Amino acid sequence: MNLSTIFGNYDVGDEQQEWLKTNLSRQPQELSTEGFLWYGKYNKHITANGSATCSCCNGKLFNEANYKDYPIWVVEYDCTKGEKYLVMDGKHRINKAIADGETTIKAYVYTLAELETYVNSK
Ligand SMILES: [Zn+2]
Repeated sequence: MNLSTIFGNYDVGDEQQEWLKTNLSRQPQELSTEGFLWYGKYNKHITANGSATCSCCNGKLFNEANYKDYPIWVVEYDCTKGEKYLVMDGKHRINKAIADGETTIKAYVYTLAELETYVNSK
């Protein structure tokens, strides 16, 4: 499965997060901020990338991002550039954490197979 398919099909919104908390509950892990790939990290044509100039929010969500109280949601994936996780929810939080100089961030880690159990439960 390629990356755009994963980002497109496994969007972890509020409903998915509730389902995952209920059915596949786990504690957040403290992970290196270098280990994540998010939609738009390397592609300058994707401007809704969670940065300070993010086109989805004009940087508002970046500025308000609370990565200390709200862990991001990620899925394990071996990226070609070395990252180990895809950010399924929290691209503004990971951008803000890196901008603030944080070297780690809290994340709920799932596998693609686990996200598929959600999709298949619908
Ligand atoms: Zn945005």
